Amino acid sequence: MIDFRSDTVTRPTPEMREAMASAEVGDDVYGDDPTVNSLQAYAAERLGFEAALFTATGTQANLLAIMSHCGRGDEYLCGQSAHNYKYEGGGAAVLGSVQPQPIENEPDGSIDLEKARAAIKADDFHFAVTRLLSLENTIGGKVLPLDYQAQARAFCDEHGLLLHLDGARIFNAAVKSNCDVTEITRHYDSVSVCLSKGLGAPVGSLLLGSESFIKRATRLRKMVGGGMRQAGILAAAGRIALEKGPLRLLEDHENAEYLSNGLAKIPELEVNPASTQTNIVYARCKAGQASQLKDYLAEQGILITAGDPIRFVTHQDVSREDVDTLLTAIRQFYPS
Ligand SMILES: *Cc1c(COP(=O)(O)O)cnc(C)c1O
Repeated sequence: MIDFRSDTVTRPTPEMREAMASAEVGDDVYGDDPTVNSLQAYAAERLGFEAALFTATGTQANLLAIMSHCGRGDEYLCGQSAHNYKYEGGGAAVLGSVQPQPIENEPDGSIDLEKARAAIKADDFHFAVTRLLSLENTIGGKVLPLDYQAQARAFCDEHGLLLHLDGARIFNAAVKSNCDVTEITRHYDSVSVCLSKGLGAPVGSLLLGSESFIKRATRLRKMVGGGMRQAGILAAAGRIALEKGPLRLLEDHENAEYLSNGLAKIPELEVNPASTQTNIVYARCKAGQASQLKDYLAEQGILITAGDPIRFVTHQDVSREDVDTLLTAIRQFYPS
């Protein structure tokens, strides 16, 4: 099977499986797991923060971040299409009693800071207390400009807000921005990072921030059932993902660009190759046969998600040849 549904489908490499099999472990709830501790120390340094926490998922890392920054009755500003608003089961509201204040994302994925300013609540007991701005980079495969992120930092400082980044794919952003990841992270109070997407780990994410923030997040992680025991088995693969995963993301971006250009030549599809910035490609079936296309491709051993638009994601387990196989199969679906 060739799987374009997501970069979460990557399988651990032989090197990861080897490292998992031989990982030194301890009980991480006691702080005893040397492999988890070493991953957290390495990640903190690599991303330029005082401390890091290994979490089960990106969803958990975002939840811990929002709950560590905000209290009951506070609110966070976020994009209308933010993962931590739209795709995380409303966790911040359900579990944290933190109200989201979504703001329509701009076409480039940013949040207009004037709209954010207008959404900040006055100091009045009718209102929730606005505490946090949460951005996402990459968002829908698009990269937030570095100068926009600097402006967002200045905006938060001006208004006494904290600034969180859902950086599930932050290394894709760094590769595309052609900068070290710390050029992005330096603007934020906290960042979440998925090890289990393009970086290739089977399981796990990281939350990064100050010492005191990570201390609060660690308490909350236990509360939501995320205190794992011999988690070094997972952290061992996570370490390889964090060290080596970023080095091969450019290849995913090149494959996505190649796919995007190929799809753009198929008259029945609508693609804007200029909007393919990292490892995610969107294409719309003009005649709306996305689900028939999905079934047809599945018969050829190719998996896609049939949305409107269709989303194709490149990752370590799809090669340039696999992209050609996909393009050939789509051309066959539209005989002309
Ligand atoms: C995947 C993703 C998450 C959540 O990660 P999980 O590990 O699937 O819970 C959060 N934010 C963004 C932008 C994501 O793409």
